[in-house]
Formats: sequence, structure tokens, C-alpha cells
Amino acid sequence: MKPHQQIKDWGLGLSNPLIIGGPCSAETPEQITQICTEMKEAQIIPQIFRAGIWKPRTRPGSFEGVGEEGLKWMEIVRNELNIPITVEVGNAAHVEMALKHKIEVLWIGARTTVNPFAVQEIAEALRGVDIPVMIKNPMNPDLELWMGALERMYAVGITKLAAIHRGFSDAYDKRYRNKPNWSMPIHLKREWRGMEVINDPSHIVGRRDGLLEVAQSAMNFGLDGLMIETHHDPDKAWSDAKQQVTPFRLKEMIDSIEFKQSLENMQPDEKLFDLRRAIDHLDDQLLAILQERFSLVDQIGAHKREHNLTVFQSDRWQEVMDSRTEKGVKKHLSEKFMKELLYCIHEESVKRQERQLREADPIQK
Ligand code: PEP
Ligand code: MN
Repeated sequence: MKPHQQIKDWGLGLSNPLIIGGPCSAETPEQITQICTEMKEAQIIPQIFRAGIWKPRTRPGSFEGVGEEGLKWMEIVRNELNIPITVEVGNAAHVEMALKHKIEVLWIGARTTVNPFAVQEIAEALRGVDIPVMIKNPMNPDLELWMGALERMYAVGITKLAAIHRGFSDAYDKRYRNKPNWSMPIHLKREWRGMEVINDPSHIVGRRDGLLEVAQSAMNFGLDGLMIETHHDPDKAWSDAKQQVTPFRLKEMIDSIEFKQSLENMQPDEKLFDLRRAIDHLDDQLLAILQERFSLVDQIGAHKREHNLTVFQSDRWQEVMDSRTEKGVKKHLSEKFMKELLYCIHEESVKRQERQLREADPIQK
């Protein structure tokens, strides 16, 4: 049985929503001290403090992190804020150093999640260690790769797992530094029940403006927390200067976000219950109609076989696609939804008919 097929109480065991704050990179002990001081002044103490110690940079030559030295400065955070610390690890040596300095939570960055060799190396270094691990989505929107990294951790005994949605690199859409794809974290939560997914609006937006909107969307969708890069002097930050916010701004942002309640933790009220009953009934009807539709598809398939016709007929497909999409749009269904729905139905129809042909006339070996 795959780990995600089990019903299990996943997560880091911390409050929901989980707020993670702290700089993109640890720079100096003074910087860490100042951020902690301002977090206290602004009365925004995150549940976990983040700091990048080893920075995976796209091109060499830019600031690549302060290295092990920075781990010692995390004592400042422990003394000032008394909260757990998370750092990014990219290989077994990082894991070893982070564990030596008693870092409480590890995270794996997007550039590492894409590489199963690196993820496996980290997993081996963690075998038998009881530590929470958060895994950022890979650079490309590949759910399997993301889940694969979580599974590799699970396989060595890490059960305190969470995922982080930090968006996906997109060569064409320049509105975001990394474009969000909300269906992906939701799909992950569906596939792996109970998996907590934290949102990282900082790396999605790449700028200060727009962070709030993305963070609010994440909470609306039911994600479990926010990781927001926080620096006392963002413009002078040694990495990701454009996207970091001050602790005071972090406080303002968190105060203005509307945190929704998860229905999973409460009894649905009567109205919701009635509406859901109505949906259940309509879904039954949808299934009955689909069953009827596919029975017609099978009859057409038999006819095509009899008359030696190909399964796919492009004119007919185009006509179905265009006319149904137009009708759907008039009924306020989005064009994208109509096209996806029709592709899905059509693909199933074509596959059924092709199977019919194959089964009726098996290849003579
Ligand atoms: C970071 O969190 O600073 C970072 C490098 O993020 P990502 O792996 O999402 O690019
Ligand atoms: Mn960063």
C-alpha cells in the first residue's frame, strides 16, 4: 500500500494556519538579531523561523549563502523568539550540518525536488532521524515528481511531512516569478489525504505587491499555511530583495488575510447538507446521462466497424467541440472548462471505439 492511500494524521503538528517567516538568506548575526527584534516589536512571531544557509543560485557568482557559520546564528532566534528553525538542505552534507546544529525542521527547495538522485541522497542521510521535512514543488508542474520526493522521505521513516507550493517556472507568463497552479496542491491533498500544503507567495510573486492576493487565494483554497520571506531592510537583502517584506508589513498582511475554517473540522450545517444532497442527486443524473451517451458511442462504433470507417472523424469532432463550447459559454461555463470536458469525453469515446475494433478483429499472429 502506498503511504498516501492510508488515512493518517500527517503534518508538522503545529497550529493551522502555519506561519513561517524569516529572511531568504541568513546574512550576518546583526541581520538575524534585527529581524527578531522587529518581529517582537511588530508582535508577529511566526510558528517557524526560516533562513536560507546554502542558496541554490541559477547562475554562479551571486551570493551562495553563508554556509555552516550561519547555523550558529540560529541560536539568536532561539534566544529571542523561542521558535523552531527551518533551513533548506540540498545534499547529505547540508543535512549533517543542520542536524549537528539541532535545526528543528528541514526543507527541500524546488531545484532539488526535480532531482531524484539528490532527494534520495537527502533521504538516506535522514534514515532513522525523527525530523519534520517540507518539500517544495519542483520547478516544473509535475505532480508525480513532487509526490515522489515525499514518498522517498516517507520510505526512510520521515512521517512529519508537509509540501510547499511555490509556483512553477513559466517562460511566457511574466506576471509571476513562478506561476501558481492551484489545482496541483489541491490534487496533492486529494491524492495524499491529510497532507499539509503550505503556500510560499514570496517565490510565486517575486515582488512585494501582489503577495497578499496570492496568500489570500491560498487560504481560500484551503491550504494550510504561509511561508513569507521577511527581512528588516528588504531593499538591501543579499538575495530576493524585491520580494521580501519587513516584519511590520508581515504583521499587517497576516492581520488583513481572512483565514477560512476547514469544513473537515466541523459539522456541516443544515443548508450545506441540503445543497450537497442536491449535488449528489445531480451527479447521479450526470452519470446516468454519460452511461447513455457511451452506449450510443458503442452503437456508432459497431456501425463504423461494419462500414470500415475510421474511429476519429475530424470534421465531426470539430463540429461537436465548437457547437458545445458555444452553448456552454452561453450558460456561463468557461471556454477552458468546456474544452477540457469535451476532450475528456471525446477521448474516452475514441478509446472505446478503437477497443471495439481491436476486439472484433484481433490481429492474426
Ligand atoms: C528560498 O526559499 O529561498 C528558495 C530558494 O526557494 P525555491 O526553492 O522555492 O526557489
Ligand atoms: Mn528566496
